[in-house]
Amino acid sequence: MKAQTNLPRLAIASLGGTVSMQAGDGGSGVKPKLGCEEQLAKVPQLSEMAHIEAATLGLLPSASMGFAELLEVLLWAQRAVECGAQAVILTQGTDSLEETAFFLDLLWSSEAPLIMTGAMRAASQPGNDGPANLLAAAHVALAQGSRGRGVLVVMNDQVHCAANVRKTASLALTAFKSPGSGPIGDVVEGVVVYRHPPAHREVLPLPQCTDHRVALLEACLGADTALLQAVASLGYEGLVIAGFGAGHVSSSWANALGTLVPTLPVIVATRTGSGPTALASYGFAGGEIDLQRKGVHMAGQLCPRKCRILLWLLIGAGRQHQLHSWLPR
Ligand code: ASP
Repeated sequence: MKAQTNLPRLAIASLGGTVSMQAGDGGSGVKPKLGCEEQLAKVPQLSEMAHIEAATLGLLPSASMGFAELLEVLLWAQRAVECGAQAVILTQGTDSLEETAFFLDLLWSSEAPLIMTGAMRAASQPGNDGPANLLAAAHVALAQGSRGRGVLVVMNDQVHCAANVRKTASLALTAFKSPGSGPIGDVVEGVVVYRHPPAHREVLPLPQCTDHRVALLEACLGADTALLQAVASLGYEGLVIAGFGAGHVSSSWANALGTLVPTLPVIVATRTGSGPTALASYGFAGGEIDLQRKGVHMAGQLCPRKCRILLWLLIGAGRQHQLHSWLPR
């Protein structure tokens, strides 16, 4: 990329994912291949918008990413901003994007935008959306109105906040949605239009320990309690349940959760994909009133996967006692 001193500095790193994938020989399917420079070469407009510092930090399908990689990515992004980048963009796989974005958002204390994007169609497919998403991400990264909003996900010309965004479809170009709230902004002809001013944000300190584990189990019809009973003896330090409806489980699960609560924090979220958990509506065994009496936390607006990320980071920072205040109604 050519260096023009009057342009803002933008740090862009690639981690892998479909946005980096190309077909191999003989119908063996697409795999991560393109590094950051190769992805940037498909968006020549970028060099007129900013002085780009590019880095290839990984070539992973995003289901194989983990917390250790993310903490390294966070340090890289923090260093880029300390060294003068106005904003940071990360490209990665879309499969775990809703989790990685929330993880980084909970730790990103800078006012500088940290923008994440990817692609639903591989780089070698006709109509691949990676270059357009990268260009839109750059518009968002460089917009003054993006400052102080934490980590944002830009897909399909929409801007989503990390706490609400979800991949809601397996293959559709329009897979990314923020159920309930909708996107916080749009990219219209290269201009970023936000629907609301930035909200107040709280961040967590870096985890002091990283070897703890938080389990996530889904409540489903007729399920026995064997897995629940095994959670503590397997060494998990926290448990998230993707519950039925407004945050419910069967009466046998409610009893098993009540037994676990003195040993580890338990959150019940909704498996429905949209809407908050209830707090004061249902009075049956396994309903939210019963669960709260047993010491279970209700997830509020957070989906089960994001609850697991939150609980892992809280435990890592020794702040699990603050869990309740991190679960938005
Ligand atoms: N299908 C995924 C993607 O959209 C693969 C991955 O997450 O790495 O990037």
